[in-house]
Amino acid sequence: MSAIGELAGVGPKSAPLFRELGILSARDLLDYLPFRYDDLRFPTPSSRLGSTGAPEENAVGIVEHVKERRARGLEIVEVRLRDDDGVFIAKWIGRNRYVIGRFRAGMRLFVRGRVERTLAGPAVNVAQYAVLGEDEAYHGELVPIYRASKELTTRKIAAVVEKNLPALLDLAGDDPLPPSVRERKGYPTLREAYRAVHAPGTPQEAERARERFIFTEFLALAAAAQLRRAERERAHDASALAIPAGLLDEFAGALPYPLTGAQRRVIGEIWDDMTRDVPMNRLLQGDVGSGKTLVAAAAILLCARNGLQSALMAPTEILAAQHASKLAPLLMPFGIAVEAVFGSQSARSRAAALDRLASGEAAVAVGTHALITDGVAFARLGLAIIDEQHRFGVEQRARLRAKGASPHTLHMTATPIPRTLAQSVYADLDQSKIDELPPGRTPIETFAVRSSRLPRVYEFVRANVARGHQAYVVAPAIDEESDLTSVVAEAERLKNEVLPELRIGLLHGRLNAREKDEVMGRFARGEIDVLLATTVVEVGVDVPNASVMVVLDAHRYGLAQLHQLRGRVGRGAAKSFCVLVYPDDTRETERLAILTESTDGFRIAEEDLRIRGAGEFAGTVQAGAADLWIADLVRDIDVYREAQREAAQIVADDPELRLPEHGGLHAMLARRPSTRALVLSS
Ligand code: ADP
Ligand code: MG
Repeated sequence: MSAIGELAGVGPKSAPLFRELGILSARDLLDYLPFRYDDLRFPTPSSRLGSTGAPEENAVGIVEHVKERRARGLEIVEVRLRDDDGVFIAKWIGRNRYVIGRFRAGMRLFVRGRVERTLAGPAVNVAQYAVLGEDEAYHGELVPIYRASKELTTRKIAAVVEKNLPALLDLAGDDPLPPSVRERKGYPTLREAYRAVHAPGTPQEAERARERFIFTEFLALAAAAQLRRAERERAHDASALAIPAGLLDEFAGALPYPLTGAQRRVIGEIWDDMTRDVPMNRLLQGDVGSGKTLVAAAAILLCARNGLQSALMAPTEILAAQHASKLAPLLMPFGIAVEAVFGSQSARSRAAALDRLASGEAAVAVGTHALITDGVAFARLGLAIIDEQHRFGVEQRARLRAKGASPHTLHMTATPIPRTLAQSVYADLDQSKIDELPPGRTPIETFAVRSSRLPRVYEFVRANVARGHQAYVVAPAIDEESDLTSVVAEAERLKNEVLPELRIGLLHGRLNAREKDEVMGRFARGEIDVLLATTVVEVGVDVPNASVMVVLDAHRYGLAQLHQLRGRVGRGAAKSFCVLVYPDDTRETERLAILTESTDGFRIAEEDLRIRGAGEFAGTVQAGAADLWIADLVRDIDVYREAQREAAQIVADDPELRLPEHGGLHAMLARRPSTRALVLSS
């Protein structure tokens, strides 16, 4: 495949600029689609200029008068033009070196720009212009606009595309869209679609071609997920577990509280999966505090009763340690001990743990990434549980599963995922949802306040500490390197000025694991009153005596993330509060108000998705989901649904994509890493 530098119009100077935009080869350029078009086809008659509603308008006229002047240091060129309807003004302000002295009466000009209505008639602030020959018929085009850089303009990119178009189109390759699907949908051929996006005759043609690419990208995505699932279903290589009679009652009986209905249902779903010889691949979603740990314990118990081991992997030591300490009492009544595997563990205790796992003596390992290192082996791993699964990469999840022979897999997340996204991003996972919190929790009261009221917020913190409680104060930055509030500086300020009588602690991502654990430990034991923290405190950390969560610069966080932070409080008996502080000059009240009104994580996630769009949201849900080529999981969700239906048909007819008409799709799946990354179990 030819390198970008080999194309006509690309020289040694511009080739690196293309590469900076990610365009390394001619093929990359073909796939570099314009994101919009400037429609230069029709000049607007002067009588209608400024009333069409378009952000920029075109006009063609004959120069009547040229005025050049300076105002506040800027060169201003004003040209009066006449068309069949009347007169209009074309205006160049500043940076006019090329136009000064260029125009004279009688010339024909094409101009394009934003139109203002002035007393002297419509005025075009010229963004583009061309001098037309006297008898030259105006002939404008749809000009593709590409994402450009400072040094490499969209105009240059368009010129290179235009110059090489036939050669580029020859690179289109096999169509991933099977001909029968293409015909049914009435889409253009692949080659024709590339032509239509890069050099469209009409906006409709470009739009249709674009939709075809979106559809195809989704088809590949959906097909990848369904192929995975089909492959998994075919393998029959997992251990089919037996559920001993009365096990659920036995498990429930050992708990100090009754199971919620949702927990009972979800345990049932998971256990059902595990009775099959098809490896489970299930996502367990549950808001913070919904009791996922307990559900994990039930799955571990079933495994242990069948003589198999389980492993639970969490993204940080704090979380892993917390899981270990929560699982231990849940599993102890059944004689199951929890083995910890951490990076910071002493060599000796690590070696002992690894021995017990390798021999099969230990039934459960709980740990961090340390679990997937080479030294860790299991005698018979039957269940892999991955907590906060989106924080692990595809390979890491795969490596944990590879510690066993086709183990059942349970992915857990406390990030509520909007339904639309869950169905597409996690298409190869079965889903369970704990949509009910354990009873007896007092709802957290949430306020959004301007930062000028921060002194009163800290008064509130002081009053709560006086009543024997603790507080979190979360800020986005560690140091003062930006205009964001820094935890280090704010901790100093609280210590020295604002709350000098209180014990202030500090937690952020630059502390090493041991230091973090030390600080968290002191906070958990009540030796710290107010903990200043970055979002390292976000997930899972559980200190029931903390009753106030203050988030500084709350406007910098997504709603879902704020909801997670809020979940750090309200875990004890006392009434809890969350205070979201935003700068006086931002207008975030509406967005933050959603949090003051609702504690339903799923509703908040839907709102977050609506406000921020899929790209950003998907990034927090699943590494790789934001890397779609041109499709957008929210904007184009209807197209996704259709593509998903077609994919189901294709996979049902041809489960290994061996038919010649599926060759293009097969090749696309192999080629595009984003498609593969989206599929969890790859
Ligand atoms: P998650 O991991 O989903 O955030 P946890 O498993 O940590 O939630 O549970 C949160 C708290 O709720 C724990 O202290 C747990 O003991 C308690 N809990 C879990 N299930 C129930 C229940 N059915 N009834 C009462 N309390 C429960
Ligand atoms: Mg938890």
